[in-house]
Amino acid sequence: MTDLRELLVAEPGKVRLAEIDPRSTPGLKSNKRDAKDWSRAEVARITAKLGSYQEPLYAAAKKGAPDRILLLLQAMDCGGKDGTVRSVLTGSNPAGVKVVSFGPPTEEERAHDFLWRVERALPPPGYLGVFNRSHYEDVLVVRVHELVPPETWQERYEQINAFEAAQVASGLTVVKVMLHISKEEQAARLLARLADPTKFWKYNPGDLAERARWDDYQVAYEDAINRCSTPQAPWYVVPADRKWYRNWAVANLLLAAFEKVDPQYPVPDFDVAAERAKLAATI
Ligand code: AMP
Ligand code: MG
Repeated sequence: MTDLRELLVAEPGKVRLAEIDPRSTPGLKSNKRDAKDWSRAEVARITAKLGSYQEPLYAAAKKGAPDRILLLLQAMDCGGKDGTVRSVLTGSNPAGVKVVSFGPPTEEERAHDFLWRVERALPPPGYLGVFNRSHYEDVLVVRVHELVPPETWQERYEQINAFEAAQVASGLTVVKVMLHISKEEQAARLLARLADPTKFWKYNPGDLAERARWDDYQVAYEDAINRCSTPQAPWYVVPADRKWYRNWAVANLLLAAFEKVDPQYPVPDFDVAAERAKLAATI
């Protein structure tokens, strides 16, 4: 199979979201009639594999390895961030995972630079981190709602690139994913939320005001992706109207990150045979 990363990676300056079909399924054979069932089975296999990579990653960090992995998710409302987190972390050990969701900054956070809370939220060495929203909100919602002057958010692309480059240089592998849904799919999902009492809590009357700014958000997303997809921290645009494709694609991208890091159990810093002999003497 072609590397999925090549199919989904955002080429800086070249991404036009309107040209990416949110219902498409890049990398899945189009003649697969059982694509849905097949991809679900694959997700189960891949997520188990992800889980098996966690322990060596953690063990290596105990001995000083700097490696840590971050899955960063951005999407319009109802884009599937929560569902993706649930799906891709299924096989993971919660003890080695750090999931952080970003809402409007608190008073304390607003007193600092926009990257302050982000740096604190990063996974420590040995951990898998997940960002549900991120510092990109500072060039998305903040731009669309003019929460800061244009000069301020315009400078942030370079600040973000410098920040991410520094983190990558110190052991972070970051997988940045935009879950790309259509406006029609968002309507369907909002309707579903309003039809199900167990989903009311996810609905926010403000979501409709955000939906009204759909086109502004698409422009802001496009700029963020085009300006901040870098060789060391590329953006991936995942068509996300079909949840089974979305889960399959994100699981694969995360697996590729673990495979690149290829965490290894550390070599013991003691003499195993000697320890065994000493133990035997006590039995
Ligand atoms: P939810 O993900 O549905 O819990 O919503 C979180 C809300 O926080 C969204 O409406 C975001 O736009 C908002 N948010 C996240 N980061 C920021 C930020 N840096 N500035 C302002 N609003 C933000
Ligand atoms: Mg919401």
